[in-house]
Amino acid sequence: IIRLDNVGKHYDDFQVLQGINLSVRQGEKIVICGPSGSGKSTLIRCINRLNPHDSGTITVENQDVATKSGGDHVRREVGMVFQNFNLFPHLTVLENCTLAPMKVRGLSRKAAEELALRYLNRVHIGSQAHKKPGQLSGGQQQRVAIARALCMSPKVMLFDEPTSALDPEMVGEVLEVMTELAQDGMTMLCVTHEMGFARKVADRVVFMDAGQIVETASPAEFFDNPQHPRTRAFLSQIR
Ligand code: ATP
Ligand code: MG
Repeated sequence: IIRLDNVGKHYDDFQVLQGINLSVRQGEKIVICGPSGSGKSTLIRCINRLNPHDSGTITVENQDVATKSGGDHVRREVGMVFQNFNLFPHLTVLENCTLAPMKVRGLSRKAAEELALRYLNRVHIGSQAHKKPGQLSGGQQQRVAIARALCMSPKVMLFDEPTSALDPEMVGEVLEVMTELAQDGMTMLCVTHEMGFARKVADRVVFMDAGQIVETASPAEFFDNPQHPRTRAFLSQIR
């Protein structure tokens, strides 16, 4: 469903991504990890065109995201959840969730609200629908952000460190929602250092360092028998 072929990107003379090859099948769950500055966020953001790449090709459902129609396609079909939630603070939870479906998908307010409440209930937060984001905990806000993305009926969900801005006691509730989403068959690319989640949910773990994919393996292989010295060094630091 997603394919990256020899993707590169640089900022001035700094090569942030280099020779990235990755393909993601429908329903697959990929966890991306690696040291700070290795290019994980940049990679995720290149896929949905928040940051354009400058060499190689990225396709989503066989459409090149660098074209006008491919860019529109990726924005409609790929959902994104950020570290800092990125909710609209002046809108209620419900309004946050109905905005894009009404504007982009052309749903009526009634249909958009029904859909939003369905997803808000699915992330166990339907009772908070009329609050503003600022009245919710971080974990609750992140669950709203996930529900908001789901309201667009995405084919793929991208997560960029969705739990790293949360107080420790709220990490679990967000990972639980992500695990449920995975069990429902969603195609997911998650940048996360939550290794318990990776072990349980990922089909493959991708390790990045210095703008390159250094190692890709099943969670069992990755954690118990990492091949690359840089992977071993990284794993020894985070656990
Ligand atoms: P972290 O784990 O800290 O989130 P990351 O793996 O997500 O790191 P990126 O955010 O993708 O890393 O950044 C990769 C590199 O690109 C970093 O060295 C960063 O300083 C650099 N970089 C990112 N955005 C820009 C920019 N707009 N201009 C110049 N350099 C940038
Ligand atoms: Mg990042």
